[in-house]
Parts: sequence; structure tokens; C-alpha cells
Amino acid sequence: MLLQFLSTARKQIAVAYGQKGGKDNVAILENLVQLRHKFAKLLGYTNYADFAIEPRMPKTSRKILEFLEEMSEQLSDVANRELNILKDLKIKEEGNAQFGMEDLLYYIKRAEEFKVDLDVGEIKQYFPVGLVISGMLKIFQDLFALRFDEIKDVDVWHDTVRVFSVWDASSSDLLGYFFLDIFSREGKYAHTCVVTLQNGCLCSNGTRKVPAAVILSQCPKEFDGNSALLRFPEVVRLFHEFSHVVHHVSNRATFSRFSGLRLEGDFAEIPSLLLENWCYESISLKMMSGFHQDITKSISSEACQSLKRRRDLFAGLKMKQEILLCLVDQIIHSSENVDIDDLIKDLHPKVMLGIPLLEGTSPASSFPRIAFGYDAVCYSYIWSEVFAADLFVSKFKDDLLNQHAGLRFRNKVLAPGGSKDPLEIITDYLGREPSLQPFIQSRTRNSL
Ligand SMILES: [Zn+2]
Repeated sequence: MLLQFLSTARKQIAVAYGQKGGKDNVAILENLVQLRHKFAKLLGYTNYADFAIEPRMPKTSRKILEFLEEMSEQLSDVANRELNILKDLKIKEEGNAQFGMEDLLYYIKRAEEFKVDLDVGEIKQYFPVGLVISGMLKIFQDLFALRFDEIKDVDVWHDTVRVFSVWDASSSDLLGYFFLDIFSREGKYAHTCVVTLQNGCLCSNGTRKVPAAVILSQCPKEFDGNSALLRFPEVVRLFHEFSHVVHHVSNRATFSRFSGLRLEGDFAEIPSLLLENWCYESISLKMMSGFHQDITKSISSEACQSLKRRRDLFAGLKMKQEILLCLVDQIIHSSENVDIDDLIKDLHPKVMLGIPLLEGTSPASSFPRIAFGYDAVCYSYIWSEVFAADLFVSKFKDDLLNQHAGLRFRNKVLAPGGSKDPLEIITDYLGREPSLQPFIQSRTRNSL
């Protein structure tokens, strides 16, 4: 009786949530899309997607549609196996095999409870902020043959801000500077991000102007007089953002215009997504962790495994949901007068393994990325993840702190900045065209 009640309530909530934004938002979105097509035609393009994608890595909308469709197809096997696990769980709990979209997130969460043995509160005790920062700096120095020297007694905007010079470890050439402004204080910008302060370039007298960047975050500094503890997602976020700093200071482009983080949109996130992997491997995670009452005791290998497992669990189904929305974004921006609700109703069962769209819901009414900021380029995150997985598996996975591989990556992928075609940079570094397979295989291996 209770289970029946919960099931009905779950559906009611899912339907109400799926109507967020309502029909008005869908009408606004359709109007926005038509105006975008009109704008692109004034500039001589056939449709808005062609205009938005021309300067990006895939170059054409057709290529993106092929990419998304192939991803969806290649993930179908693993996603089907994941779905069968969730269906079995539902039968076990409710005795009912009818599985709808309202069940998806609920049963993924339930399955995670069985499959991942991880106490999030306990994990946090292994990440005192000071230790995370020093371990992170050491990993980047070791991997990329860099040396970070802290500069003391220098005027900065707050006494918790630290500043470092960056040197090439073998030649001792000065490469740049970065500021760590990671602790929270009143009135400070509330997000974790990187801001470039100066781009590098070659000056007319033959000297180099070096780049500088600041990483901003809102980490707590102390707790009860001790170094504050970071939640694991905060560790990953810091590591991700610091990768942008290293990309910035490694840049050796001739012109300032192509320096810094002025990178083609699909390329900008690839190095940071690649480097996030170091937060999920024991050897590197142990370098950034230590029990807060005894920092010689680093996080256990089992806990590292569980963190990775939690990241990848049900990755096929989660990615398929993302692909569905990216397909909608790409189709409406590459064809005119598409009825968005009809399109989603038609695509949903094709992408989501036969599960129909939940009656009465309209996912496009509450999908902000499609409305502004990522119009026609929602695919970008999946694209970057696929390239990052290929780079990780091909070059780093078996030897995470291999300085030879790191230095080669720094010189071939990070140093050119925006001065070379990104696809050329990656193809040249890999020695072949990038492939979907490492991403599909890693998710297939770890998702169940
Ligand atoms: Zn980023």
C-alpha cells in the first residue's frame, strides 16, 4: 500500500517538475530559435547552427548530429544493461515491471546505495584544504616539469591571497605567475573560477611578456582552529580550475590574441576534463589527502575506487539523457519551424531505449542552456569529455605521473593556446584521429 502511494507520488512529482516553465517557455524558445535563424540568414548562413558551429571544432551541424547519434548508438548496450538492473530493482520493490521516466532517477539512487560503499562524511575528513592545495601543486609540478615558487612579502589584495612564480624545471625560464585566492570572505565573488590577469606574448624586442592568472574560490579556511575540510566535489572543482591556470601559464603563442584562455570553445575544457581524472586515481588522490587528525594516513585505495565507481555508475543512461537534449538543441537550430514538443516526443523513445516521454511534461520548457549561452552548442561538454577520455586512456592512464608524457602534453597541446587548429593539435599529439572508443569502453567497464 505504502509502495503504491510512493509510486503514485513519484509520478505526480515528476510530471509537475517536468512542466516547470510551462507552455509559455516553449513558445518563447520557438520564437527565439526563429529569430536566430533570421539573424544567421542575414549573415549569409542557411541556418543558425551553421553560423554558430563554423568556428568550432566539428565545423558543421551535420558532423555534430552524426557524433551524437553514434554516441547514443554505441552507449545502447551498456545503457540497456543498466536499465535492466533498474527494472529488476523495481520489480523487487514494487512487483511492477512498468518502468517510466519517473522511476529513472529514483532507482538509480536506490541502486547506488547498494552498489557503492561510500560514506561522504567520512571521505571529507581526508581533505584538509592546506593538504589538498600542496598535493595539487606537487602533482602539476611533477607531471608538467614545472616549478612553483611562492613569492612572500608582496602586496596583494587580501592577506589570505598567495602568489607564485612558475618556472620551467629544466631551463629555469620564467613562464608566468598565478595567484591563489581560494578562501571565502564577505563580499567576494561566490564561484570557483579562473580569471586571466595578463596574456603572454612575444614582444617586438624579442622578450616574452609572461601570463598571469588568479584562481578564485570560496573554500572555508579554518574550522575550530584547524585547516578546514573540503568535500570531494570541491577537490575536483579546484583541480579542474587549476588545470586552466596551468593551461594559461604554459601558453607560448606569439600573439596575445591567441594566448591565455582565448581558446576555441570545444577545446577550452578538454585539458581540464582530462586532468580531473587525477582526482579519481589512488596514486594521485593519496598525494592530496590525509586524515585531518593524522595527515600521514592518506585515503584508502578502496575509497578511491568507490569514488570512481560512483562517478561512472549508470553512465550510459545518464549520458543518453544528455544526448537527447543535445540532439533537440542541434535539430531545432539546424532546421526551421520545428515543433519542439513533437520533436521530443518522437526522439525520446528512440534515444531512451523505448521509454516514452512522461505524458504531460515538456523538457524543453526548463532547459536553460538551449535558450541562451549554449544555443546550438549544447553538445560541447560531451564532445570535450570524449576527447579528454581518449587523451587519458591513450597517454596517461597507466603512468599518471610520467613527466615525459606530461611535458610532451604541455609542449604540444597546452603551449600553442589558440594559435593552432585544436583538432590538428590533438591529432598531432595522439598520432591519429581522436576516437569515441576510449570513452565508451571506460564507461562500459565502470558503469555497472
Ligand atoms: Zn573549466
